Amino acid sequence: MTSEDLPDPNNRVLVGKDGNITLAYTENNLEAHQRLAAKLKSMLNHLGCEDHLLPTHLYFGKKIPIAGTAHQCGTVRFGHDPKTSVLDVNCKAHDLDNLYVVDASFFVSSSAVNPSLTIIANALRVGDHLLARLA
Ligand SMILES: Cc1cc2nc3c(=O)[nH]c(=O)nc-3n(C[C@H](O)[C@H](O)[C@H](O)COP(=O)(O)OP(=O)(O)OC[C@H]3O[C@@H](n4cnc5c(N)ncnc54)[C@H](O)[C@@H]3O)c2cc1C
Repeated sequence: MTSEDLPDPNNRVLVGKDGNITLAYTENNLEAHQRLAAKLKSMLNHLGCEDHLLPTHLYFGKKIPIAGTAHQCGTVRFGHDPKTSVLDVNCKAHDLDNLYVVDASFFVSSSAVNPSLTIIANALRVGDHLLARLA
């Protein structure tokens, strides 16, 4: 069972005047996490995974601290509105005709799942768009 925070514009990457990078983060969405965990626990007997069969070496329940940040995304979001996004829906910069960005930065927000397949699928989608554009 995995849960993630909801999007919060204050949870972000910051670059200081000295060039140092810091991550600003305040956790949220805890009630949803607790309800999901309670739901899973309530279903264990039906699944043949009774409570007493879940010692710590089988049930790895913990929060990943900020040092474990691995799904950075959303720094160059895509969208229709240049006021709220850097890229258009084809991942081209709104203001530049020859700049496309296809890494995880195009995400509007974190997806609460592993992101690589979405990054790859989007790169293939944008590749098809570029082929059509260059034809
Ligand atoms: C420990 C860990 C475990 C993870 N496990 C999973 C997992 O199981 N499943 C999953 O889906 N995702 C996982 N992720 C997340 C996933 O790896 C990343 O979200 C994904 O690789 C991001 O892809 P990207 O193309 O945006 O950036 P990256 O893969 O980081 O690619 C950026 C590339 O740009 C290059 N680069 C940077 N600066 C420059 C420059 N100035 N000039 C030229 N090149 C430059 C870098 O060398 C790098 O090759 C994990 C991440 C971490 C850290």
